[in-house]
Amino acid sequence: MHEMSLLNDLEQRSGGQCELCASIDNLKIYKVPPVTNHGIDGSLLACAVCIAQIESRSLGTDTTDVNHWRCLNDSMWSEHDSVKVVAWRMLSRLKSEGWPKDLLDMMYLEDETLQWAKSTGEGLTESEKLIHRDVNGVILENGDSVVLIKDLKVKGSSLVAKQGTAIRRISLDRENSDFIEGKVGPTQIVIITKYVKKI
Ligand SMILES: [Zn+2]
Repeated sequence: MHEMSLLNDLEQRSGGQCELCASIDNLKIYKVPPVTNHGIDGSLLACAVCIAQIESRSLGTDTTDVNHWRCLNDSMWSEHDSVKVVAWRMLSRLKSEGWPKDLLDMMYLEDETLQWAKSTGEGLTESEKLIHRDVNGVILENGDSVVLIKDLKVKGSSLVAKQGTAIRRISLDRENSDFIEGKVGPTQIVIITKYVKKI
């Protein structure tokens, strides 16, 4: 029921068209990651074409229909932050094409909105991106599982997390590639990446 009313609200807000490219076909709710707001402010109405391209993470310009995204020329001026964030991310992703970079330079996002836009790492070059690696140099991602390769004392408690303990669904520290977070029992702890091995 809740999703239905969200869809209705979005249809009303958008006038029944994709909030990115104005298509009226195959419209769906797109929740803008990381999803902290499940309401209308965290979502937009988008067509299947836009969503498919947004979600193919590793796309280079070879698999993206760059010209499709010329639609951002209009939609980047949306008054809705969720739309602005996605516009900013796609323009960042395509900025090597030239014109997206020009549009990006014209965009203005409030600090908080810009933080949201940047939080998925979109638009950063490989060297600017924080890359978390385990003890063997294997890249760690949010949601991965790891095991501890040594006993770790948990700061501020008497808990010792034993070597061999599996930690599921880790999250990466957004500011520092030396740290991840995960749960040992009920306790959320910060762990140094070089003391874990990806499983
Ligand atoms: Zn669209």
